[in-house]
Amino acid sequence: MPAKITLLGTGGGRFVIINQVRASGGFILEMDGEMLHIDPGPGALVRAKQYGVKLGKLTGVIVSHTHPDHCTDAQMVIETMTQGAKKKRGILIGSESVIKGKGEFIQVISPYHLKAVERVEVMKPGDKIKVGKLEIEATKTKHREPSCIGFVFRGSSIVGFTGDGEYFSGQENYFKGCNYLIINCLRPRTNTWPEHMNAGQAEKLIGKVKPKLAILQHFGMLMLRGVAEREAKQIQRNTGVRTIAARDGQVLDLDGKEEGKSKGLDRFLK
Ligand SMILES: [Zn+2]
Repeated sequence: MPAKITLLGTGGGRFVIINQVRASGGFILEMDGEMLHIDPGPGALVRAKQYGVKLGKLTGVIVSHTHPDHCTDAQMVIETMTQGAKKKRGILIGSESVIKGKGEFIQVISPYHLKAVERVEVMKPGDKIKVGKLEIEATKTKHREPSCIGFVFRGSSIVGFTGDGEYFSGQENYFKGCNYLIINCLRPRTNTWPEHMNAGQAEKLIGKVKPKLAILQHFGMLMLRGVAEREAKQIQRNTGVRTIAARDGQVLDLDGKEEGKSKGLDRFLK
């Protein structure tokens, strides 16, 4: 099974999500025999069907935090992974708020769904677990939802995902050695929104991590109409790191001669 990332949605920011200007289904990471669905937001099931992704083959569901654009379809995706909650299988990984609830952020996975999976892991920044041949590490974020985490997936390739949140000094240390870095980049560099990343902050992080490919996604309204693509080009110019603004339904091969290239599914792209 070739390693790849499939983007089931590249929308972020509330107006993009509520109007589904861009989709919001999270992304699928396939690597070393695992198939993980990260942040299954609104419409994840529908987008999976649209893009030909078989969620019944998932080996895990991962939820970074309790904001609805990251988790509303998580329980349904768990049901799909577990054949309607009839077959106990797969892993669920989440932040403390996602699995147990924390303060005003109530748990978003019911006890019924927690019981449906084979293994549940609550992670906080710095925690590392093994899932098959993969090592998964949780990374710190600076976000409004305080237990929000990002992830690094270490296997035949190393893939980092920032989760939500603004850049903070030292964030790069979590992503050292990443070949691919997926960044939730809500706004252009000219616009700052506290505790969310803009393109200027993404550039700073990319310049320090120097992955083979940086993938911007989770766009708010101000990143649409070609802005995200222009920001990606500017980041690439300023850092020397190949940077793309992801599109809904895009598939990125992580190894072989197609490494880092987008392939197939162009018929789905706008
Ligand atoms: Zn959030």
